[in-house]
Amino acid sequence: MPTENVQRLIRDNEKYAAEFAGGDLSVLPSRLCCLVTCHDARIDPAKVFGIGIGQFHVIRNAGGNIKDALRSILISQHMLRTREVIRVKHTDCGTATFTNDEAHETINKNQGDVAVPPDFDFLPFVDPEVSVREEVAWLKSLKALYKGTVVSGLVYDVGTGKVKQVV
Ligand SMILES: [Zn+2]
Repeated sequence: MPTENVQRLIRDNEKYAAEFAGGDLSVLPSRLCCLVTCHDARIDPAKVFGIGIGQFHVIRNAGGNIKDALRSILISQHMLRTREVIRVKHTDCGTATFTNDEAHETINKNQGDVAVPPDFDFLPFVDPEVSVREEVAWLKSLKALYKGTVVSGLVYDVGTGKVKQVV
């Protein structure tokens, strides 16, 4: 039996599919760009940045971490021809509310001792601007990044809806 959320998704999708007109779009993003951001429920990249269907790859994970997103970034660049990466952190991020030790403690408490490998890195951070700079620098230092790729770093303010460029 589908959950209430699944039922609702399917019901709302019927409205979307009834007016859908994007079936002929290419698998290659038309603006040749890959955007990495957090899975935060308050961020809707299409609305926040005016991204249309078929235009960008949008990669999301907790904190919008570049290292966590690397597999997708490399596929985006080398297999699907994107040539620019935009990194977007945000204010009030859930991934800035704990340390690695605290995440390990919580999971082990919930699941029993050593539920994840002790050296598993949850990639928490403290300051979004500092983190954006560090992650952009790390990505640019990778030999696997497609040559000539432009990498930018932005911070989105969940309180005002505004974004600013940091790097
Ligand atoms: Zn976040």
